[in-house]
Formats: sequence, C-alpha cells, structure tokens
Amino acid sequence: MTQKTDDKAAKAKARTVRCPQCGGDSVYGPSNPYRPFCSDRCKGIDLGAWASESFRMEAETPPDDQPFGDPRLQ
Ligand SMILES: [Zn+2]
Repeated sequence: MTQKTDDKAAKAKARTVRCPQCGGDSVYGPSNPYRPFCSDRCKGIDLGAWASESFRMEAETPPDDQPFGDPRLQ
C-alpha cells in the first residue's frame, strides 16, 4: 500500500525535461547539477562553443609587439 505512494513521490521528484543540447531526457532536479542539460558533456559542448567563439574573435586582432622586419636583426 505504501509502495504506491513512495513510487508516486519518487516520480514527482525525478522530473525530466528535454536536454537543449542533445534533445534527450534530462533529469531536472537536485540530482542533476547540469540541468537543464542531461550531462556535463552536453553542458560542456554549449560552454565550449561560446568560449571558442569569443576566443576566435580575439585571435583575429593582429599582434603588434613582434619585432618583425627589424633591420638591426640582420
Ligand atoms: Zn544532452
């Protein structure tokens, strides 16, 4: 009898949402620190894309501290 109630409570706790990264089931609760993502991998992919994007923009700035073409070096 009590088993039915426990099962219901457990289901309410383990709420699942759709992972924005892979579209799979993701546990939306305290047991999942990566929510709304399903795993650290999906969360890492999202953050990695953002980081590489900003890094790429920064890398496009040409370095101006290189002693390139200095006649005294030759
Ligand atoms: Zn995922």
